[in-house]
Order: sequence, then structure tokens, then C-alpha cells
Amino acid sequence: MSRSVLVTGGNRGIGLAIARAFADAGDKVAVTYRSGEPPEGLFGVKCDITDPEQVEQAFKEVEAAQGPVEVLVANAGVTRDTLLLRMSEEDFTSVLDTNLTGTFRVVKRASKAMLRARKGRIVLISSVVGLLGSAGQANYAASKAGLVGFARSLARELGSRNITVNVVAPGFVDTDMTKVLGEERRAEIVSQVPLARYAQPEEIASAVRFLSSDEAAYITGAVIPVDGGLGMGH
Ligand code: NDP
Repeated sequence: MSRSVLVTGGNRGIGLAIARAFADAGDKVAVTYRSGEPPEGLFGVKCDITDPEQVEQAFKEVEAAQGPVEVLVANAGVTRDTLLLRMSEEDFTSVLDTNLTGTFRVVKRASKAMLRARKGRIVLISSVVGLLGSAGQANYAASKAGLVGFARSLARELGSRNITVNVVAPGFVDTDMTKVLGEERRAEIVSQVPLARYAQPEEIASAVRFLSSDEAAYITGAVIPVDGGLGMGH
């Protein structure tokens, strides 16, 4: 059955791989993009998730094109890495505003139609560092840990309406976000990953697709690591 799917930040990286995986499975897929052009072959709506009006407008466009959103993947996210004493108020609040409050904005908007339909799937993209911590990423890790409390609260709040809310926590994935890390740092990271490599974006997409499928109907409030074993025990 073809569903209406929305992936935020779906123009590149992990979001694009997720969007393509749903499209390949026959779903109707919309992606938000903030800059540049929408990806080829996918329906794109321009949206900066830090702006509530743009979120509202994007949802209206998606609903007009493919119907109310039945599967929401909140993937858009940013980093602004620096050590605590160098971290400005703006470094902290802008990352929280995108990764955590931005997710709140899209989830709240999507949940309206899901509550009406009495079904829905919400998947939030967190990170292994949300639970493990990461020096130089206090803002980012706080935002990603926040997503877990947010998702679990919503799992309780929305569960009786047949809406599941789950979190995928990727480890290090080959995308623009991690390209900025130098060779040395990359080798250091890989040395700590039991599977001894980075993930490909498609490997994150598989977990997201599973959580959105009928097979996962009884899974909610879960945090699924896709991290090559990096975060084991957390
Ligand atoms: P990229 O930097 O490659 O892509 C980030 C995406 O988010 C882009 O589509 C970007 O849009 C979008 N985005 C950023 N800010 C906003 C905003 N304010 N409004 C709307 N869209 C926005 O990142 P990845 O693909 O690597 O990461 C995707 C998600 O996965 C993020 O949440 C990230 O934190 C998480 N993650 C990534 C890991 C990794 O190793 N790569 C590991 C663990 C988690 P635009 O192109 O317009 O900038």
C-alpha cells in the first residue's frame, strides 16, 4: 500500500537515502530542503524547520500533493562543534532550535492528521552521541538526547491512537556532516567501532523503513542503534 511519507532534510545524506528507500518501495515521498534544489525524482518542499510558518506552509503543500502525512521521518539536523568554554549562546541555542525544537515543530504538525486518522508512524533521527556523550559536541549531544525523552513521552501520549514514535540512533555515517572530520579523527573513530567502518546512509534507511512498516506495529518508544556496535550498553 502506498503511503504519504515526509522526510525532513531529505535533499542529501541520510535523509535522501531514507526518502529513496521509501520511494523504491512504492510510497509517495516528499522531502524538505532548505537550500539548493530538491533532489531529482522526489517531491520537494522548501522549508527551514526553525521557522514555524515555513513548517506550516510545507505541510500544506505536501497534503495537497499526496494527502496527509502518514509516516514522518524527522531527520534534519546540524552540528556546531566546539569545546564548552568556546561554545557561544548562539552555538548552543541554534543547534537545539534545529535538532530538538525543529523536530517538535514538524512532529506536532504531523500528529494532527495522524490523530484524526488514528494511525501513524513517527521516526526521529538521533545519534549515538546523544547517549554516549561526545567532547566538543555538548550542544549536539544534548539535542539528540532530548529527542529520546521527547519520543518516549509521545509514545505514551499517542500510543492509544495507533501512532508509534521511535528513535533511530546512527553511529558515524559517510555524509557531508562527517566529511569535515580529518583523516586522523576518522581513524580514531573507526578504531572504536566493533564493525570497524562507517555506516552507509542506506543502512540507516533500512532501520527507518522497518520501524515504519506493518512488521513493527508493536514497537514504540524504542531507541534503535545503527552504529556498528559503537554505543553498546548505552
Ligand atoms: P547532512 O549535513 O548531510 O544533511 C543535513 C540535512 O538536514 C540537510 O538536508 C539539511 O538541509 C537539513 N537541515 C539542516 N538544518 C535544517 C533546517 N534548519 N531546516 C531544514 N532542514 C535542515 O547530515 P546527515 O545526512 O549526516 O545527517 C542527517 C541526520 O542524521 C541529522 O539529524 C544528523 O544529526 C543525524 N546523524 C548523522 C550522523 C552522521 O554520522 N552523519 C550520525 C548520527 C546522526 P540543507 O541541505 O538545506 O542544509
